[in-house]
Amino acid sequence: MISKSLARNLVLPTILFSLAGLLSCQKLTDVMRPFMLSEDQEVELGDQFKAQILSDTETYPPYTGSQKVTDFVDSLGQYLASVQTDRPDLKFTFTIIDDDEQVNAFAIPGGHVFVYTGLLKNMKNASELAGVLAHEIGHITQYHGADKMVQGNALELVNTIFFNESDSASITGAIAGLLENMVFLSFSRKDEFEADSCALAYSINADISPEGMKDFLAFLKSEYGDQPKIFEPMSTHPLLSDRIKKINAIISKSSDVPDDMYENEYSKIKGLI
Ligand SMILES: [Zn+2]
Repeated sequence: MISKSLARNLVLPTILFSLAGLLSCQKLTDVMRPFMLSEDQEVELGDQFKAQILSDTETYPPYTGSQKVTDFVDSLGQYLASVQTDRPDLKFTFTIIDDDEQVNAFAIPGGHVFVYTGLLKNMKNASELAGVLAHEIGHITQYHGADKMVQGNALELVNTIFFNESDSASITGAIAGLLENMVFLSFSRKDEFEADSCALAYSINADISPEGMKDFLAFLKSEYGDQPKIFEPMSTHPLLSDRIKKINAIISKSSDVPDDMYENEYSKIKGLI
């Protein structure tokens, strides 16, 4: 349950801004999607991945701490998802994994975002968290993971799931194989720049400072170097300094930096994570 005051805060900005002015992600190239999963197939696969992840409590321990923290992450995520117009009909979920060692978050196809407590504890404010959540939402809205599923070796496994007369054991095996390889997390540099541009667009649409994503990347750089393997470790990440440079170029073009609406709520839950 979302507290009444938080629910009120979440409703307010939707009334204040005009839908006509919503920003979208910057497409870096024309995306060729010669063979792709249908929306229904992506959602079905995503739901099965999520169920498998939740059932593996040793690798992905569920967060059982404060409900206020769970509610805040979900509310902020749902709000960011509601102000993006790239995939407005997709249902998103936001799940916390209890592992302080992982300064990490990831998104799987079908609308599911996972955030580790290690990342939450290293966030300085709500706009940083919003930036990371919006970046993960961007990977989903731009089909980065879904398209990886139908490339290379993963295609055979996807075929087993959807297109062959497979028995349930083969289907379960194929899903486990895809999950084990985490193919849907092996994002390219182009994917990362695109997800960053989504993070800025969605943060601005949500009336949250777009500086958050940049501040978080600057923190990672100072803590772990310019090309750390810590955030989305499967990804072929560009240098953090290149990402920060591109983010600055986009932010400088946006006319006004909006007020942060979530900092007050964030300060209340920060100590509870
Ligand atoms: Zn990413």
